[in-house]
Amino acid sequence: MDNLSQYQFVEYEVLGPIARIWQNRPEARNAQGRQMLDELDHAFATADADDNIRVIIFAGRGKHFSAGHDLKEAQRERPNPTAEERWEYEGKRFYQYTLNLLDITKPTIAQVQGACVAGAFMMSSVCDLVVASDDAYFSDPVTQSLGVASLEVLIHPWIMSMRKAKEVLFTGSRIDAKEALEIGMINQVVPRDQLEAATLELAETIAKTPPFALKLLKRSLNRTWDAQGFRVAVSAHFDAHNISHMSKEFQDNLSRGLSTSIPTAKEVGSNAGE
Ligand code: ZN
Repeated sequence: MDNLSQYQFVEYEVLGPIARIWQNRPEARNAQGRQMLDELDHAFATADADDNIRVIIFAGRGKHFSAGHDLKEAQRERPNPTAEERWEYEGKRFYQYTLNLLDITKPTIAQVQGACVAGAFMMSSVCDLVVASDDAYFSDPVTQSLGVASLEVLIHPWIMSMRKAKEVLFTGSRIDAKEALEIGMINQVVPRDQLEAATLELAETIAKTPPFALKLLKRSLNRTWDAQGFRVAVSAHFDAHNISHMSKEFQDNLSRGLSTSIPTAKEVGSNAGE
């Protein structure tokens, strides 16, 4: 995949100094399969390396931002991975790709509508800013639906209070756009039909800022998390999360078929994850 035009599940748009990168699989609620994640990581790196791009928007085509990792594909292509195979797959595509997105040197804005669940919530949460439409909701129901210890990157206590993080993780409950704004988890809520315009306006404003100063500023802000132990905490959780995949609780769900967890996930939060 050397060429942006070869993407199958991602659309790469250039709007002057802004790259808008779309998850483009609306018929499957933008479920993030192997190829989409590879294409997203490639697209973000391409935008970061392009001197003409100053701000990156991360968006989703259709009714929903994304339902998270593609459990149907996991069941079909990786029905019973060994610990080594899972470590490799999740370490690269779920953990490292998410940190790659956090480490992009330019400002990133997530543009979120509808469901933003599990793996998708993890990725939108490491963007610098989040603009949501009034129908958006955020959830991580996988502890309830799959019996794993949350997601690969435990971003929750870094984007909301520890108290709130414990509540949403222990119950799998959703945070709607209004509440997300109230708790400072996102930056703006706008009507659905104004989402693209509002996100673009914010990106255009930021694109006028001198880019080198902005790059250094973002490094310093991200280092504030590092000074607080961010990377130590999230890498330790990745290990814990992978141990939880070996548990009887998870293995029972795996033998029933991962996609059978989707109704439980919908009940508590929404519809996917891993
Ligand atoms: Zn996992």
